[in-house]
Amino acid sequence: MDESRWEKITGWKLAGFALGLAAFAALLCASEPGFVFGLDHANLLFHEAGHPFVGLFSNRLETYGGTIGQLVFPVLLAVSFWRKGQALSFAASVIWFFENWLNIARYMADARALELPLGGGGDHDWNTIFTRWNVLQYDLNIAGTMKFIGWAGMFAAVLWVGWRWWRDRNRADESIEQF
Ligand SMILES: [Zn+2]
Repeated sequence: MDESRWEKITGWKLAGFALGLAAFAALLCASEPGFVFGLDHANLLFHEAGHPFVGLFSNRLETYGGTIGQLVFPVLLAVSFWRKGQALSFAASVIWFFENWLNIARYMADARALELPLGGGGDHDWNTIFTRWNVLQYDLNIAGTMKFIGWAGMFAAVLWVGWRWWRDRNRADESIEQF
């Protein structure tokens, strides 16, 4: 992909991003694992909207609709920011996307325990899905993997921002030297 289409990440923009990231990290630490206050309330809304929406098209897929619903908005945002070359907004969307994985992992890990309070219907998505897939006994392993990917994805997005900033800075130095 053409590198020049990404907006330049200045030191000020990076500082703003770091500040937002710090607030997000603080919120993540203060929240119970897998449920970030505010953000996961929004995710839950998208989740609950996803079930009936997907249910319009397929009864069988309706169970997956919640998870699809909570992932689809960060994906749409990420694609849109990527196309506009808005690097920091893109990274924030990617972080939101992968934060969702922690929330999904929390739900997956509950597939056998059935301890989480459930909104809407009272069906446990992951108990249903894992039973369907015949992997119910692996719920904790699958959740652990999801959680790992979630963290790895968020770290990757932050590293990418740092790397872009560093590159942009060096590129700026080069252009100053040329003139
Ligand atoms: Zn659900």
